[in-house]
Amino acid sequence: MQSTAVGGWREGKLYIGGIWREAEAGAVAPVTDPGSGETIGRMAAAAATDAAAAVAAAAAAFPGWAATPAPERAAALRRVARLLAERREEIAAVMTAEQGKPLAEARGEVEMTAEYFLWNAEEARRIYGDTIPASSAGKRLLALRQPVGVTAAITPWNFPASMLGRKLAPALAAGCTAVCKPAAATPLTACAVFACIHDAGLPPGVANLVAGPAGPIGDVFLTDPRVRKISFTGSTAVGKMLMRRAADGMKRVSLELGGHAPFLIFADADLDAAVRGVVASRFRNAGQTCISANRLYVEAQVAEALQERLVAAVRALRVGRGDAPGVDVGPLIDASAVDGAEAQVADAVARGGRVLCGGHRMAGPGSFFEPTVIAGTPTDALVARQETFGPVIPLWTFGDEAEAVRRANDTAYGLAAYVYTRDLARAIRVTEALEYGIVGVNDPVPTVVQAPFGGVKESGMGREGGYEGVRGFLETKFVSIGI
Ligand code: NAP
Repeated sequence: MQSTAVGGWREGKLYIGGIWREAEAGAVAPVTDPGSGETIGRMAAAAATDAAAAVAAAAAAFPGWAATPAPERAAALRRVARLLAERREEIAAVMTAEQGKPLAEARGEVEMTAEYFLWNAEEARRIYGDTIPASSAGKRLLALRQPVGVTAAITPWNFPASMLGRKLAPALAAGCTAVCKPAAATPLTACAVFACIHDAGLPPGVANLVAGPAGPIGDVFLTDPRVRKISFTGSTAVGKMLMRRAADGMKRVSLELGGHAPFLIFADADLDAAVRGVVASRFRNAGQTCISANRLYVEAQVAEALQERLVAAVRALRVGRGDAPGVDVGPLIDASAVDGAEAQVADAVARGGRVLCGGHRMAGPGSFFEPTVIAGTPTDALVARQETFGPVIPLWTFGDEAEAVRRANDTAYGLAAYVYTRDLARAIRVTEALEYGIVGVNDPVPTVVQAPFGGVKESGMGREGGYEGVRGFLETKFVSIGI
């Protein structure tokens, strides 16, 4: 770990204009290990003045970075990718310490973060414009692609490294400069990623980090006219607020918001693969994943067999601290997340639902909840409508394909959906009918750096990843030349 850069991984600092520093007012916030509930570090807590300083640094760095030849920007991003890969173990350990996820998952996330930098380094060299046929012999028409300018990136705690990578890497590839605000729960992982950016030698001010109270920092992003784009991943409620307020400055927004993924299992599916898929989708990151299966629908004739195998698989999951060997499910992010899971289960049971396994908070220390499967819940229960950010899955049966699709689409969310079937025609029909931005067909983990990621309806707008990721940070300028 770059302890010299960040003062030891337990003592996070802001990174503004290429310099690690404390908040101007000296404020700090504690960082907690959700596996023990204990304070394990602290992070400098920026106020509005610090956020404004970061925006000023990004604005000052913008002309130079935008004018830097694409191969040079690409080389810088490749250096960041290499450092992330080299420091995988150290960064994963920080992530597990403050976020709780099992070390194997944390390692995978660091690898994916490195891949975001690598993919976008490659894309930096492929930002093409257009030449357009003119209407007269005396004109030549061009469309240029140019960086939008200073970008603000606001990220959640559930994927504290890869969400940064998914925003920062395409922004920098496009020639934008950036100010990032990580979630309060996971600032130290962000510092570890920024240590790679610093050590990769990016010019001062190109990428800046300000952690601290979200309201004042968000206000700076929303009101400073130099910030031209806000890229946000988080809850639908905060996303809507940002979009409303960004309208005043006509800032671009891209919003990756909450989800309520349906997981459809048809009778012709490979049931063992489907069970593995549900477990991977629902219980990875203790269920704290925006594309995680939230509602399981099983075709009636295989429901009993599926339920039996699923309950056995969920009972076999090992719950514990993320740094303990062999753990499948770590702690939830904090005590209120445990309260949320408990409230959803209590509501389901009060409405006639049956807990098939789990269902309880676990004795402390730390914020643990038992992996839980519930059947027989009415469709107006909380767990059926409200995003579940914990290891709880309700299941229902369906009669035919039309019913499965109708129930899958019966939500305001539209991020990810899953279909398990061995019938190709059905897979295509159902995929086309699902109102979701991402569909996993016999695939519970559809996120890859080279593919577009994002939702429809109240799950957001814009796409990250793939070539569309970089496009989100580009403006088109039309040039008409008289000759
Ligand atoms: P959240 O409360 O919306 O927080 C997300 C980020 O927004 C955090 O950095 C938070 O800062 C910040 N924030 C909160 N209030 C703000 C304000 N007034 N102005 C500016 N920033 C503000 O969401 P969360 O509970 O951390 O994350 C879980 C949510 O993210 C879930 O709904 C999940 O589905 C969604 N998510 C979506 C995707 C996707 O790609 N679609 C991926 C991952 C997660 P503080 O931490 O300081 O409050």
